[in-house]
Amino acid sequence: MAIHPLPAMQLAEELKRPIQHEDYHEGVEVREFMAGLFTRMLRRAAPSKVSSMPVFARLDAGRWIADCPMGCNGAEMVTTVDPIFLCLSCGCGDMWWPVEFPPNKMALENNLKRRVDVQGWAWNLGETIADLNREVVARGLEMRLD
Ligand SMILES: [Zn+2]
Repeated sequence: MAIHPLPAMQLAEELKRPIQHEDYHEGVEVREFMAGLFTRMLRRAAPSKVSSMPVFARLDAGRWIADCPMGCNGAEMVTTVDPIFLCLSCGCGDMWWPVEFPPNKMALENNLKRRVDVQGWAWNLGETIADLNREVVARGLEMRLD
């Protein structure tokens, strides 16, 4: 299993854009990766059911992740290539969960990656570009000129 040698935040910084599953776990598709880890960590077969309810992607320190819908505080890196989530902490009801990304993902990324500190490449469901711009001013965040 290929895991990128850099910590995720540093990888995002190096690539100059937020990252998702395949950036970090090179050459391993998200379903295969999650199912393998699920079996090893939770000692049972990966689920075959898929929830009818979605989970929502958010951006955290330059990584697209989704939080466990069961509230166990687990979170995993997700991808638009195959938007599916499985909680490796609790199994989230032994179901896969479809992941919804924001329709303006590219605009959000283009806005956020101008922040110098990758820790600040963060977005939560419901936040608008205007909210992000207000945050820059309110917190006095350092921005790139390009
Ligand atoms: Zn969980």
